[in-house]
Amino acid sequence: MRFKAVRGVKDVLPEELTFWQEIERVARGVFELYGYEEIRTPVFESSLLFERGIGEGTEIVDKQMYTFLDKKGRNLTLRPEATASVVRAYLEHNLDKKGNLVQFYYIGPMFRYERPQAGRQRQFWQLGTELFGSSHPARDAELIGMTLEFFKELGLENLITEINSVGCLGCRGSFVSALHEYLQKEKGLLCSDCQIRLEKNPLRILDCKSEPCKSLVLEGPDIERYLCSGCHSHLKKVEGYLDLLDVSYKMNSHLVRGLDYYTRTVFEIIDRRLGSQDALAAGGRYDELVKELGGPSTPAIGFAAGMERIVLALKKDRKMGDKKEKTDFFIASIDEAADGVVLKIAHSLRTAGLHSKFNCESRSAKSQAQLANKLGARFLIIIGEDELRNEEVRPKDMSVRKLLDPVDLSGIVSWCKEVL
Ligand SMILES: [Zn+2]
Ligand SMILES: [Zn+2]
Repeated sequence: MRFKAVRGVKDVLPEELTFWQEIERVARGVFELYGYEEIRTPVFESSLLFERGIGEGTEIVDKQMYTFLDKKGRNLTLRPEATASVVRAYLEHNLDKKGNLVQFYYIGPMFRYERPQAGRQRQFWQLGTELFGSSHPARDAELIGMTLEFFKELGLENLITEINSVGCLGCRGSFVSALHEYLQKEKGLLCSDCQIRLEKNPLRILDCKSEPCKSLVLEGPDIERYLCSGCHSHLKKVEGYLDLLDVSYKMNSHLVRGLDYYTRTVFEIIDRRLGSQDALAAGGRYDELVKELGGPSTPAIGFAAGMERIVLALKKDRKMGDKKEKTDFFIASIDEAADGVVLKIAHSLRTAGLHSKFNCESRSAKSQAQLANKLGARFLIIIGEDELRNEEVRPKDMSVRKLLDPVDLSGIVSWCKEVL
């Protein structure tokens, strides 16, 4: 029986992995420049954390979580996102007592039971940041600027930044009633889930992925008109700071997050070339979440980006790595008596930091030369009965396909060190 990876998960093979490694390297560099430190939280948590943190009645909690009972009957869930876990860790380790800004970034796999498609897997990777302890609008602008800087370092520049404000707990109520009143009239057009949401929490409808609901929402009331003066002035200040940072952005009054804890600024960074799944990153303020998860009232802001999507965007501009593994020396044995000798030479070269491969799997000089060529080796050294008897070898310079002068077998490692 041969096994296949299950639906919605995939292997990342070395040629694509070069993109992934680059994304991670750039992310670490940029985030650390802005004062973020890495945090690694477990991939599973108590299910209740996500029910509370993401919210019951949301698409994620209702339909997409990988929830299971462990052998002791604990109700656990594979994390569908990282923010709830980071907040949990922030509170568990009393980091709120530090009394200043606390900034984390993370990179890791998340899990959601969704219909797999390009750029969307059931195990998918996200990277993102969370900042705790400031409600200042300069932080909103700083975060959006940093996210764009991250994409720019990767060579992704023609991106669209959309921002909006979803208001606060104080002013959102009047928007929600207006939304409810409007949707009540069109109730028959809503999907069956949203008909229930309309009664329980109409805000959730803003996140529905089904087409009729999406277009109804677009025609519906505009949240900007319902913002209180505090939220309105916060938004204006964010806009002013973005201008100061030369960030071009677009207001999208229908950009919302249907989660109760999101407050004020929300944003999305979009690459139009990706079609229907075009958001590379999304984020916003969540000034109510720390309190919701049992901590003291703490303003916070963060973003997350899907790595599969970033890889798709990078592939639009570049070919997948032609990168060959680096081989400076290919040491081949064509006689059993030489096997130990080539093993030892390769080991000595690696200890000296030189990239070398050895091969005892073929006894044909011709096929060994072909292999060295395929691997892009710079020098080929073949050792067989003759070389052992004469105690000397003739390295071949693969770039000019020429045999070089004989070298003493005992001095071959020093020769290799010098020739590079
Ligand atoms: Zn408000
Ligand atoms: Zn719907």
